[in-house]
This record gives sequence, C-alpha cells and structure tokens, in this order.
Amino acid sequence: MSPHVPSSDSIRTVALVGGTHGDELTGVALVRAFQQHPERMQRPGLDVTALIANEAAIAACRRGVDGDLNRSFAAAELADASLHSVEQRRAKAINAQLGPKGPDTATDLILDFHSAASDMGLNCNITGEDPFLFRLAALAIHRLAAEPDPLAVRCYQFPAPTGDAPYLPTIARHGMGVEVGPVMPGSLNAAIYFPTLCLAHTLLDLVAEYAAGRWPDAPLPLDVYTEIDTIPFPRDADGRLTAMVHPERTRRVYQPLQPGDPLFLDFHGRTIPYTGAPGLYPTFVNEPSYLAKDIALCLARHSQRMV
Ligand SMILES: [Zn+2]
Repeated sequence: MSPHVPSSDSIRTVALVGGTHGDELTGVALVRAFQQHPERMQRPGLDVTALIANEAAIAACRRGVDGDLNRSFAAAELADASLHSVEQRRAKAINAQLGPKGPDTATDLILDFHSAASDMGLNCNITGEDPFLFRLAALAIHRLAAEPDPLAVRCYQFPAPTGDAPYLPTIARHGMGVEVGPVMPGSLNAAIYFPTLCLAHTLLDLVAEYAAGRWPDAPLPLDVYTEIDTIPFPRDADGRLTAMVHPERTRRVYQPLQPGDPLFLDFHGRTIPYTGAPGLYPTFVNEPSYLAKDIALCLARHSQRMV
C-alpha cells in the first residue's frame, strides 16, 4: 500500500460512465462494449458497473438536451424536486443509482469518459486534489509508457471548485475524467478509441491491484498540467467574432505558448499574437463546445510532483 494514500481508503465499487455528453461517442462506444461483455470490466475484488449517462442526448447527438449533465450534480440541485429538465432528471436518477452524493455514496470510484475535438491526446482529468487519483494516474502513465507499444497519457488538473461542485464524478468518493482527442463531436475515431480502451483496462487493473494491497511503495514523479486560465475569442463591439484560432496554434496543443506567437487570425488574414505570460500550455484549443462559453483555448501550467 502506498504510504501516500491512506490504507483505510478501500476501493470496491467502480462505475465506468460514458455519454455524459451525448455527442462524445468514444465513451458511449466504450461503455456499450463493456455492457456487451461485462466479464471484460470485472476485476478480482472489485464490483464494476458501466453506465450510459444520457441516452436522450446521445439520440439527439448533442452535448445535452436541455443543459449540461456534467453541471447538474450540485447537491442543492439534486435535492431540488422542482427541477425537471432532461439533464436534471438524469442527474437525480444517476445520483440514486450510483450515489447518493456525500459520505454514504455507494460508489467508490467513477471513471467518466469524455472526448475533445482538440488534439488533446489521452488525459486523466482530476479536479482539485485527490492523492489516490494522482497516484492512480501516475501508475497508469508509467505503466503505459513502458509497454512495447507505448501510450502517452497526461494528467490534467482542473482547479478545485469553490462550493458545491456540479460534476457527475463528484457523486462518488473519487471521480476521474478520462479526456481523449482529437475526436470530432458526433463521431468516432478508431485511432483514439482503442488507446482509450487500453487506458480503461489499465486503470481497472491498477484499481484492482490497489484493492489487493499491491501498489508499489516507491513515490513516482508525475507531470501535472493545471488549468489556470482561459482566453476568449476576439469580438467586435456587437459581440460578433472577429477572428479564428490561428491554424499554427490549432495544431500545437500542449506546446508552450510564448508572447508573440500567432494566436488568432482575423477574417482579413491579419495575425493577432499572444501577449500573455510565457511558458503556459494551450489545451482544448478551438474546442467546439467551448465556443458557447466564449473560450478559444485554455491555458495550463506544467509542474512535476512526487506522488
Ligand atoms: Zn465531455
């Protein structure tokens, strides 16, 4: 048992979730494949279930029908019987099945499978601080990097939300997102699907090893990319877009951004350079679902920690 993770923190019940966003089909295909062959997700000592989160959104091939399911799990919203949108009803049903959110939850770990159109590669997404999840991510990253056919996986950290977090994985004791790309919304990319499946199997293997007390003791180095900022699109006084993400940047996700680097290209062909702090890593670059949030790209700070 790792000295960095409390030994009392046993993990028995695991839920694999796909289709939290209905147009992110990688997780949908992966969960349906596990549902067809449940023996493939079972591991000794674990009780593993697979859940499609939002069938209505999948049928509509949209992120959500009335809203964003992954913003519908705040405790106050789950407790509010007057809320009846498609996503609010699904959140309550999922909370009844896998939760309830809080100390009495039935689920020790949720792995929630998402995809991005941006060329993000494979990511273990962790919100805030969770020593178990960082250790799990580090072990998965090191194991997959050492395979004969190695897979690169990154650890992406979202800042801890202030107050009542609305994300689906928060109904379990531990919740990790798996974010993979590039996969266009409403489509599948076989070159991403199978590495995602491989990562899912590796995470399940590692959780079973943890449950059996077989994690190594030695701390591991882990590169963490922490999202610290977002950059909006350039707009005119009427709020209309005046520029697109520069094509040189669209191709350079996770490559450090320096002042003066081309960032946007306006509709007359003029380049707008980046003027912010040096050495930050662009992520979710030109992500279609982020346009509505007026996010052209996110910026992450790289650090390394021992976990
Ligand atoms: Zn998503």
